[in-house]
Amino acid sequence: MFLKSVEIMGFKSFADRTRIEFSEGISALLGPNGCGKSNVVDSVKWVLGEQSTKNMRAEKMEDVIFNGTETRKALNVAEVTLTIANEEGILDLDVPEVSIKRRLFRNGESEYLVNNTPVKLKELRELFFDTGIGKSAYSIMEQGKIDQVLSNKPEERRYLFEEAAGITKFKVRGGEADRKLARTEENMVQVENILREVR
Ligand code: ATP
Repeated sequence: MFLKSVEIMGFKSFADRTRIEFSEGISALLGPNGCGKSNVVDSVKWVLGEQSTKNMRAEKMEDVIFNGTETRKALNVAEVTLTIANEEGILDLDVPEVSIKRRLFRNGESEYLVNNTPVKLKELRELFFDTGIGKSAYSIMEQGKIDQVLSNKPEERRYLFEEAAGITKFKVRGGEADRKLARTEENMVQVENILREVR
């Protein structure tokens, strides 16, 4: 599984549709300060569901939409599309190539699409569980991330090992099941109270 391409339009400094293709092995983005290298990395984090404006180096999420220059009007929508090779089927979809798209309009409306089908953020996250991709996973190692990992509390560091070991999915499902159980227990108590009143 590897990132084949990223297509950016209206995101941060990329007003025009820009497609960057990667081949297997190492690729490097080179350019002068401020030309938009980090914006490319931001776009990848964003399309994978990043919700933190701080991690996007923005004050509010709408700030990621191209906000114009002296010679060019601001745009109303940002769109990023990743194409991921999936020949080994690591992503649980029966297709050799998966495209992930995120769109955000200035009025706050937003959507995620996997292979052109709208999905919820939760579904997108589930697709990436245990693959090393996604929020807090280890596929994006930015400046300072290694230091941060080393200085994290052991419980926080354990998350990376759990992701690599492929058990994130089960932990998340376990958490969901616990919450369901707690809700059911609350309902049971309510039903018992009602029964006691009507008896
Ligand atoms: P450095 O090497 O200094 O870290 P860089 O190549 O990584 O630079 P970026 O931080 O990716 O550069 O890009 C910064 C540029 O992106 C700035 O010129 C900034 O004005 C521009 N920029 C950021 N957000 C937007 C936006 N919403 N609309 C237009 N331009 C934007």
